[in-house]
Amino acid sequence: MKRDDLTGFGGGGNKGRKLEFLIYDILEAGATRVVSCGSLQSNFVRQLGAACAVHGVACTAVVMRLPYEGTIGQPEGPIPGGGGNETLDALFGVDLRLVPDGPWETLFAETARVAGELRATGETVYEVPIGGSSPLGAYAFALAAEEVCEGWDWVVTPCSSGSTHAGLAWAFAGTPTRVVGIACDPEEDLRDDVARLCAGIDEVAGEAKGIRPEEIDLRYDWVGRGYSVPSEAGEAATRVAARREGLLLDPVYSAKAFAGLLDLLESGEVSGHVLFWHTGGLPTLLAGRA
Ligand SMILES: *Cc1c(COP(=O)(O)O)cnc(C)c1O
Repeated sequence: MKRDDLTGFGGGGNKGRKLEFLIYDILEAGATRVVSCGSLQSNFVRQLGAACAVHGVACTAVVMRLPYEGTIGQPEGPIPGGGGNETLDALFGVDLRLVPDGPWETLFAETARVAGELRATGETVYEVPIGGSSPLGAYAFALAAEEVCEGWDWVVTPCSSGSTHAGLAWAFAGTPTRVVGIACDPEEDLRDDVARLCAGIDEVAGEAKGIRPEEIDLRYDWVGRGYSVPSEAGEAATRVAARREGLLLDPVYSAKAFAGLLDLLESGEVSGHVLFWHTGGLPTLLAGRA
């Protein structure tokens, strides 16, 4: 298991790797304020807030409790409530703007509106895409692959905004290692997003691998009822990890991916030398349920 849950910026998680590069770009741009968005329990917003605090840049995040796919509608079920990342965002001084739930497009539009408003007050605003999933953020995960030794048969990772999966898929392309993303989000275009981020890495790295969407191995079997809604399989996987390994998973991402890993091992589809990429998310495990 690759323990990105134990890395830096504000409690750790996969977003720390992306921020290592993004924060440099933010400082280079001379930004006085960063604007981003996500769910109320976004791990990215929490880690972004910590990174901005370290570097003396103000941070605004527009969040919804449960943003959803407009084409599918809002899923039912318990969702992570307050506390958790929300508590840590306040501690890091994030200017958190909670808006009513709606489709992702509404969240993105509201974020652009807030960024425009802040620009009008004279701030130099740097907008960071959701989850830090820009080509630069994805590039961080292409480099991450260099930290693990060669010879893996399989690498299994959660996938939501896509840059973690993209970076790993890019790094292992053309090797015998197969990278599987477990979707934590029912968005149909996710495979295209991952492929687009791979094309972005081509540019950042100056090495064209030309990865096509059909080469991205993305599985939707463990999304459950929808993004952010805990699944029964995920809860069961969380207990297995806790009671067998003393390991903490989060209900939105790593629990669903770990449930996928266990099923894929059980069916024999995934076997041999298998690496699970633990992306963090502990604060959400401690959030309330709404
Ligand atoms: C954001 C996040 C993911 C998904 O990573 P992406 O690069 O956005 O696909 C997985 N696990 C945790 C804990 C996260 O916070």
